[in-house]
Amino acid sequence: MQQYKLLTPGPLTTSDTVRQKMLLDRCTWDDEYKQTTQQIRRELLELAQVGEKDYTAILMQGSGSFVVEAVLMSTVSGCGKILVLTNGAYGERLASMARTIGLQTVVEAAPYNSYHDFGHIENILQQDQSITHLAMVHCETTTGILNPIDQASELAKQYNKTFIVDAMSSFGGIPIDVEALQIDYLVSSANKCIQGVPGFGFVIAKKAALVNCQGISRSVSLDLYDQWQVMDVDGKWRFTSPTHVVAAFLQAIHELKEEGGIKARFERYASNNRLLRKQMEKLGFISYISEDKQSPIITSFLYPTEHFNFPAFYESMKEQGFVLYPGKLTDVDTFRIGNIGEIYKEDIQRLCHAIENYMAVMN
Ligand SMILES: *Cc1c(COP(=O)(O)O)cnc(C)c1O
Repeated sequence: MQQYKLLTPGPLTTSDTVRQKMLLDRCTWDDEYKQTTQQIRRELLELAQVGEKDYTAILMQGSGSFVVEAVLMSTVSGCGKILVLTNGAYGERLASMARTIGLQTVVEAAPYNSYHDFGHIENILQQDQSITHLAMVHCETTTGILNPIDQASELAKQYNKTFIVDAMSSFGGIPIDVEALQIDYLVSSANKCIQGVPGFGFVIAKKAALVNCQGISRSVSLDLYDQWQVMDVDGKWRFTSPTHVVAAFLQAIHELKEEGGIKARFERYASNNRLLRKQMEKLGFISYISEDKQSPIITSFLYPTEHFNFPAFYESMKEQGFVLYPGKLTDVDTFRIGNIGEIYKEDIQRLCHAIENYMAVMN
């Protein structure tokens, strides 16, 4: 199989050095491995710019969704009520998890290309004082819209709600001031902006919130509190952990730091995203999200014509070494191009050149 550049929002194109760390087999009970886990936990807090006194990082097996579900399952009790803000498929997944768990759930949906009206959200919080938790997605990977978590944070602070943020596709690639935003639980995973391979997710949790969560979970394997208690002793995971993925992830964190940290990575993503959108616009592609709301992670483009044949376009790009992403909207035809991972200016230029040639032949 060919090595493609994955222009997708994770799994994404990783470095050779990250992948090389997976060539050794490691023992989950061994001290060296447990220390790797502990080091990752410390590094994650450092990336979040929070201290060990008030925050903890918990790693959890599974893809990102498993970890979001673990947070909902383990931190909202039967007496709680969660307000979920949605404007895309991942927000809707949050809502669907909350309902499936059986939580008292209020869902507020905004159009996929818009922000919520936070005045309206404030009204809801004023009218329904039984709401205990507020949950939302930071970068909605469905469209690429970057949601204003600062506005939600203001409300969470003012009305004293536990604040849960799905920062899956943004943490590590966009600076997030976890402490100032008073985020209680931030969820992300190994295979997004930290540029590791898939296999686990993690939570940056405020200890003052998490200490109250013993016994809330109605699932053993998704019990975030228990996972924390066991992992906090010496870095041992409950149950089998994805050892190869964990080793690769520590290497990915080292490489993020070598690049200059989150700010430098953000700048690379943002400048590549600007270049991509500018070039695409020249070729006649309109992006679904307006520039002021666009994240530097992934961009949705409208089909350039009614008869645009996306499967043929996809195959042609794949032959030239690029894997694109289909759209996820029901009302308009779109496709997506991600620019996170080991993707550089030259890759974006080569891609846009390939698209230009494709469009020239089609016209
Ligand atoms: C990737 C992603 C998830 C998790 O998806 P998985 O397929 O379970 O890893 C959740 N939320 C957002 C916003 C994402 O981008």
